[in-house]
Amino acid sequence: MRYVSTRGSSPDAQHSSAPTFTEILLGGLAPDGGLYLPESYPQVTASELAQWRRLSYADLAFAVLGRFITDIPPADLQALIRRTYTPQVYSNGRSDSPAGDITPLRWLERPNAASGEGGLAILELSNGPTLAFKDMAMQLLGNLFEYVLAKRGEQINILGATSGDTGSAAEYAMRGKAGVHVFMLSPHQRMSAFQRAQMYSLQDDNIHNIAVRGMFDDAQDIVKAVSNDHAFKARYKIGAVNSINWARVAAQVVYYFKGYFAATEGLGDSEDQQVAFAVPSGNFGNICAGHIARMMGLPIGRLVLATNENDVLDEFFRSGVYRPRATGETHATSSPSMDISKASNFERFVFDLLGRDAAMVRKLWAEVDAGRSFDLSATPFFARLPEFAFVSGNSTHADRLQTIRQTFATYGVMIDTHTADGLKVGSELRSADMPMIVLETALPAKFEETIVEALGRKPERPAGLQGIEDLPQRVEVIDVSVDAVKQIIERQLG
Ligand SMILES: *Cc1c(COP(=O)(O)O)cnc(C)c1O
Repeated sequence: MRYVSTRGSSPDAQHSSAPTFTEILLGGLAPDGGLYLPESYPQVTASELAQWRRLSYADLAFAVLGRFITDIPPADLQALIRRTYTPQVYSNGRSDSPAGDITPLRWLERPNAASGEGGLAILELSNGPTLAFKDMAMQLLGNLFEYVLAKRGEQINILGATSGDTGSAAEYAMRGKAGVHVFMLSPHQRMSAFQRAQMYSLQDDNIHNIAVRGMFDDAQDIVKAVSNDHAFKARYKIGAVNSINWARVAAQVVYYFKGYFAATEGLGDSEDQQVAFAVPSGNFGNICAGHIARMMGLPIGRLVLATNENDVLDEFFRSGVYRPRATGETHATSSPSMDISKASNFERFVFDLLGRDAAMVRKLWAEVDAGRSFDLSATPFFARLPEFAFVSGNSTHADRLQTIRQTFATYGVMIDTHTADGLKVGSELRSADMPMIVLETALPAKFEETIVEALGRKPERPAGLQGIEDLPQRVEVIDVSVDAVKQIIERQLG
């Protein structure tokens, strides 16, 4: 399997042919500023699906990822994946979640053919070390990086931006790993106390926290600017783990398959029963993996994109207009990991929507990168959106509180604010012919303040994370400045 850039200039200067998986693993953007995607999506047949249904999470991950990663010896890849997806690593779920299941499916309402109910379920993706779905991909990335760097005798310095959950997931995946430093930018005072504590309390020498006096998008812009300084990037071996990293998107494809199998178990023998997924979205990484699973042939009938008040993506799917907001227009909400107004992975979907016309992507993103919008409403591409199964909706603070309350009262299940956005929008777009699977993107313990506001009580917290807010913290606070970040990197690495 080889990879192409959404902006078209792959193969690039360093490679005589299009790059392979390990060649793009450690980098971020393609040299032309685009994002990598496979040359073509591997296709999964119905009989393969039937076989995959019986696999453990780790072996399913090996089956799926083996299609995208063809330049690591299969035995090595399988060992690495089995070491990643263990019940020990993914053991932080609710106390009543089944032990040993990496991504348990929790039915809120079972499908009922007699009454014509399609069923409503939550796919638990937040049982990893940092209690958010980011661990699903990031733990694999940590092990892939370690493997590839050791093979090559190389080092890497990861520069990333987080709105809350990517940073901690990356730091927990990379802490103590030889040959890796992490420089993680976060928006100063925008994350929950628990999120701050998770990141800033890490004392590992290879972990560096930088808080930027701005929004997530400012932090992300700094990362892009540093990465676009090719001399600096080469000199300090800068790599990325933010959601544009292809390996992360690929790893996320796996749980769409797993969720599909869990939700359709017993619904008939054929592998043509469709399901819907509702995905709380920010940077479009999670739902992009769902799009890819669907392109591979997984019977996904509907991909429901849910936003919070930062509704740039909802607006696009309703109107065909993509209008990234400025920092001042970005709301700080109670689902902060979705406070994103420029969705970096969205370019991957648009590339497919445009029939993989890289020249047109280049034109559209010339507008986006200049802070302007684009409008596809009058083009045939907008009319093609239903072919891609996308629908969307948004959710507000009041909706989140209401959904958290109602879910707790009706089903006895406590959900976090982001999952509440997904459940709110997913519930509105349910249909009788297919189960609606809401992706749980974090545990309520991460967003205690809003849970208390909604329910008047604190969420349960895994034993190892009691009192984390009281630990000493290590973080450097800076203004929105590319140079300040470069100076910190220079100082640390000499
Ligand atoms: C990252 C994150 C999201 C948004 O996911 P994207 O892949 O950026 O769309 C939603 N909820 C939580 C809790 C997250 O951490």
